[in-house]
Amino acid sequence: MSNRSALMATVKGENTKPEMLVRSILHRSGYRYKLHVKDLPGRPDIVLPKYGLAIFVNGCFWHQHNCKKGQTLPKTNEKFWKTKLSRNVERDANNQELLKKQGWKVIVIWECQIKNLKSLIEILSEHLPNVKVMLM
Ligand SMILES: [Zn+2]
Repeated sequence: MSNRSALMATVKGENTKPEMLVRSILHRSGYRYKLHVKDLPGRPDIVLPKYGLAIFVNGCFWHQHNCKKGQTLPKTNEKFWKTKLSRNVERDANNQELLKKQGWKVIVIWECQIKNLKSLIEILSEHLPNVKVMLM
């Protein structure tokens, strides 16, 4: 990856560490997937067409997860952040609804859930029968 595309990927929150972990679990479990599918609402991070499954790997802060990191606003420009982040949340909800209307199942995996490998596997296993646990 060139420096420029690496930078752009960071800006859009693509290829983040949590996302790479989910991809690696799926890959090692033998699943095929597409990445950052542009023609789907919200450009899901990981898409498994065979299972009709769209996965978002969300940063807790940017997508306002119901956890400490997601609920803590920066101390400066609080109003700006509130507006910006609540727009993100609204957009997320809209996109997920559109996807569901198109017949997709949607999984949202939060950055903070990545730390608990067991619960991550459980989340994935709800929709995918062969997710394998591995020790890193
Ligand atoms: Zn979180």
